[in-house]
Order: sequence, then structure tokens, then C-alpha cells
Amino acid sequence: MDEESRACLAATLLTSHFSPEVAVRLQEQRRLHGEAFDYSVALDHSVGEQVRVSDVMGPGSYQPAARSQGFRRSIVMHYDHRCALCGIRIVTPEGQTAVDAAHIVPWSVSRNDDIRNGMALCKLCHWAFDRGMMSISDSYTVVLSRNLSSDNNAAGLLGVLTGRRLVGPLANELWPHRDNLAWHRKQYGFT
Ligand SMILES: [Zn+2]
Repeated sequence: MDEESRACLAATLLTSHFSPEVAVRLQEQRRLHGEAFDYSVALDHSVGEQVRVSDVMGPGSYQPAARSQGFRRSIVMHYDHRCALCGIRIVTPEGQTAVDAAHIVPWSVSRNDDIRNGMALCKLCHWAFDRGMMSISDSYTVVLSRNLSSDNNAAGLLGVLTGRRLVGPLANELWPHRDNLAWHRKQYGFT
């Protein structure tokens, strides 16, 4: 339970059970997980501040891998492994989940890891959302692009999702921000 003792124990195990090369890699992994955990806690604390997380925390203060892992940790936890659009929730006995942590306004555009710029989405919904085949209305219902049902497409499960209410986090203040949803609809020509 004590951070100092834990670090000492980890160092002893690494030097006594692993080759120096492997020990270095494991140490780096440990540091990355710790940084990702810190980042996810910081994300949870920054909700509602109406500012970009990257501004608050300073870009570059976290390794990209830790940022990505921390964002994923927060989003998947708040959505309880459930896809916001289709509602699928599958976790393997090993704890692997069917959902990704998706950005609504992409990170490359927004540099925004605010939880309200994210959703947990299954692989198919993530793919379709990122390509503008699906979006979300101002009243948090699923809207589908006409392109989804164009000639030769068979939308399957996605085709029946229109009008379905978003499955969001328990806490209302963590639901997607309407400005982010509006950006996505505009970007992909939803009216
Ligand atoms: Zn889905």
C-alpha cells in the first residue's frame, strides 16, 4: 500500500528475475501505466472547466502513449464498456472489451481529450462514426447518413439504430458536449 515500498519491491523483482534488457522495458511499461493512470485522473478532475485539457495540462507533459491509454481508461470506465450508439457490451474473461475510446472531434483537429469530447464505441460504430455514416442529434439520438443505405450497402445492425437514444455515462455532466456533436454533424453534412 506504500508507494516507496512498492517501488522498492518492483525494482528488486526486476533485477533478480529478469535480464537487464527486459527489466528496462518492464520499468518503462510500469512508468507508462502510472502516467496513464495519472492522466485519466486529471481528465476526470478537469470536467466542466470549459477549457481544453491540453491547455490545462500543457501539451507534451505526457507521453502520447500515456495520454492515449489514460483517455481510453477514463472513457471505457465511464461508459461501463458499453457502445454509446448500439448498446453492445462485451468483456472477455480476460477483461478485454469490445469498445474503443473514440474522439467526437478528432484529436488531430481539437487536441481535446475532455471526456465530453469522447464516447465508448464498438469497432463497427467507431468506424461508421469516424466516416460520417452515423452522427448524434442535439437531443442525443442516433442519426444515420443516407449513404449508409445507398446501393449495394447492407447496413445490418446499424440500419435499425436511427432514433435510438445515446447510452451515456451515469453522470450527466460527462455526456458529450453539444458543441462537439454539432461539429461532427456539420463536418459530415447532417442537417
Ligand atoms: Zn456499437
